[in-house]
Amino acid sequence: MKKIAIIGAGPAGIEAASVLAKYGAQVVLFEKSETPLKNLQDKAFLFPNFQSAQEIADDLNSKLLTDGITTAFGVDISDVKWHRTEWKLTDSKGQTYVSDAVLLTTGYQVFDARRKEELGYGIYKGVITSLDMERMIKHEKILNANGDVPKRVTFLQCVGSRDEKSGNNYCSKLCCVTAVKQAVEVKKQLPKCEVSVFYMDLRMWGQGFEEMYRTAQEKYDVSFVRGRISEAAATFDSRIQLKSEDTLMGVPLKMTTDLLVLMVGMEASPGTNTLGKSCDISGEYGFIRTISPHLYDNETGKPGLFVAGSCKRPMTVWDTINDARSAAFAIIDYLNTLP
Ligand code: SF4
Repeated sequence: MKKIAIIGAGPAGIEAASVLAKYGAQVVLFEKSETPLKNLQDKAFLFPNFQSAQEIADDLNSKLLTDGITTAFGVDISDVKWHRTEWKLTDSKGQTYVSDAVLLTTGYQVFDARRKEELGYGIYKGVITSLDMERMIKHEKILNANGDVPKRVTFLQCVGSRDEKSGNNYCSKLCCVTAVKQAVEVKKQLPKCEVSVFYMDLRMWGQGFEEMYRTAQEKYDVSFVRGRISEAAATFDSRIQLKSEDTLMGVPLKMTTDLLVLMVGMEASPGTNTLGKSCDISGEYGFIRTISPHLYDNETGKPGLFVAGSCKRPMTVWDTINDARSAAFAIIDYLNTLP
């Protein structure tokens, strides 16, 4: 029976593991955290259909019970090397494992908003990230710095993406639609709250996204302002004062908000960076490069070493799951060529 090591138990890792195990392979799923699906667990609802993230997590978790999958959680694989006839994996404690093929599904991390000091994250309690807002939505506790229900919530797009200063020139692809989704969620939970979204341009590229954007404006009265917020500072009563510019009207703006939500972009995770370098498949911005995004997007150019999900680039959960299935079939093809 062929052995496959999958590194990363997010949606991609679990989906690929279940397809490969059903095919009859012996799969070991490594995850450095003690539990799987860490990024998904933080989410409340997924766009564009507001499906519960928990429902999706439960479905994926049930796939871990597929015969043929062994989980190794709390194991941090730090090195992957080809050794004569097989892949050799080494964890941070020096323990080694071998396999016929390896699939990297090491995912992403969110941009650390403290790097944009002028926006006040980590300094003022009223400045939070989209991840913090997602948790507030999930627990139905949207509160300002004083623990009160906010009267005004302001979202700021492109924090740590499309930004030369942060070193991330790329678009993170998902934060525009996430802001619209979160703005709607805030209005559903707090109908009297004034909600605005500051954007450079809104990228509503996916099925149902444009409709959600219209609904946000027409049904929930969310305001969209084309502009940048250059600075945030706390007022004496812990509100947040914003300096910005409406770039459509060409006028400077000053406003006060109870919560400023920074829409943080996606970056390669530490595991993606480490293993990308260890396997010599690191691409731009530390994401993993593939042979071709058109035809061979799960192949790394190293025989038996495959990749799936957002360790390649920012990706939705559904794209990630489909990409994992595609990787599983590429691996099956590869295994069929082995003696
Ligand atoms: S998806 Fe939107 S918010 Fe995110 S980086 Fe791209 S343009 Fe900016």
